[in-house]
Amino acid sequence: MLETTNLFFNRAADYLDLTEQHRDILRTPNRVVRVEIITESDDGGLHHHLGYRVQHSAARGPMKGGLRYHPSMDEDHAASLASLMTWKTAVANIPYGGAKGGINCDPSKLSESELYRITTTFVELIKEIIGPTRDIPAPDVNTNPQIMAWIMDAYSKFYGFSPGVVTGKPVDLFGSYGREEATGRGVMYVLEECLSDQGRKLADVTVAVQGFGNVGSNAARLLAERGSRFVAVSDITGGLYNEKGIDIPALLDWVREHRGVEGFPGADGVPGDDVLTCKADVLIPAALEEAVTVDNAKGVQAGIVVEAANSPLTAGAHDVLVGRGVTIIPDILANAGGVTVSYFEWSQNIQQFRWEEARVVEELEKIMRRAYRDVASLSASASLDMRTAAFALAVKRVVKAAALRRSVRQALPPALLG
Ligand code: NAD
Repeated sequence: MLETTNLFFNRAADYLDLTEQHRDILRTPNRVVRVEIITESDDGGLHHHLGYRVQHSAARGPMKGGLRYHPSMDEDHAASLASLMTWKTAVANIPYGGAKGGINCDPSKLSESELYRITTTFVELIKEIIGPTRDIPAPDVNTNPQIMAWIMDAYSKFYGFSPGVVTGKPVDLFGSYGREEATGRGVMYVLEECLSDQGRKLADVTVAVQGFGNVGSNAARLLAERGSRFVAVSDITGGLYNEKGIDIPALLDWVREHRGVEGFPGADGVPGDDVLTCKADVLIPAALEEAVTVDNAKGVQAGIVVEAANSPLTAGAHDVLVGRGVTIIPDILANAGGVTVSYFEWSQNIQQFRWEEARVVEELEKIMRRAYRDVASLSASASLDMRTAAFALAVKRVVKAAALRRSVRQALPPALLG
């Protein structure tokens, strides 16, 4: 995964004419931390997990990035996702660097009290390197507002009242209105911008979405409200297909009750992977990384892929699709809505002032549409695919900030500093 992120980075670095030494500096994380988390299980035994936090870059501000609880979590994942966060916050042009972390565990096998102990022990072990002006975690796969509340509480026990240490908190505990749906909302705005360039509207398209968690389900709800027809949906329990359109509000009710899309009566059950290759105008991968590979990329029928998940395409799949003229809205642009509203939440926490939901939505819309326009115009003017354009824009912003701090200045191409 890190290899893929670095390959995309290198394409932008080629375009920007960066030296090997500058590339090395920009690719290398500032700090990599691995901790051993030993906690008591409910039956009196022991749990033993590894926790990670990779802080990639602080050139543009305090580092920001989610915490993922998943059996596949390791240093490579954390490093790749941390570097994506650096480029994502730069594309959105919000004053943050990038970090990521998590715990190698399967939360479906843990009780709430076990999860609580694992989370608070993790905070104790990394408390010196996080903080409102250092590194601010947030939710990611299998972590949620409740877990963020525990993190705030555990950190505050050491350092005093610190709501700004973590974002994605519950609205009743210093969270922001609109955070939970923010990533899905951002997906909607960038898709709308992309379609408008093609003379189309959200109501004109059919959509397939892989993953129906926080990001996938909120994107689906908001797009369906604007008339997009969802023909296929999948999650870990399986896939659904209905050419006439899946009733998204009814599916949301079903998933709340049954904890998965499987068995939903308003569509045919299909293998989950079929959702990636079914007939639809737009494909939204919103689950985990590397869902589309060179093998199944050949079968993708959508003309637009919106990367709601991080790294859902391998580099090979990306190149196959771009070669076929498919428009790919890359992760570092498409899913930046979450970190953008996290930034609003952090700003509100620091000022002890709450924004109304309407203001959150309005400011998010401005940032997402502007980010899309910045990337699309570089893509058009420099004949770059959208991903290389997004990375180039981001790397340029990070290099400029690092140069102003004098942490990288020597031998930079003058065009980068202008
Ligand atoms: P989540 O845990 O809420 O949901 C993940 C969803 O993916 C679930 O519906 C799960 O069933 C499904 N899934 C897992 N494996 C699958 C498979 N093999 N096939 C089909 N579905 C599968 O996580 P989330 O927060 O929605 O995150 C999803 C992606 O979006 C991740 O890549 C995450 O890094 C990225 N992301 C999340 C946010 C955020 O604000 N939550 C922000 C930016 C990016």
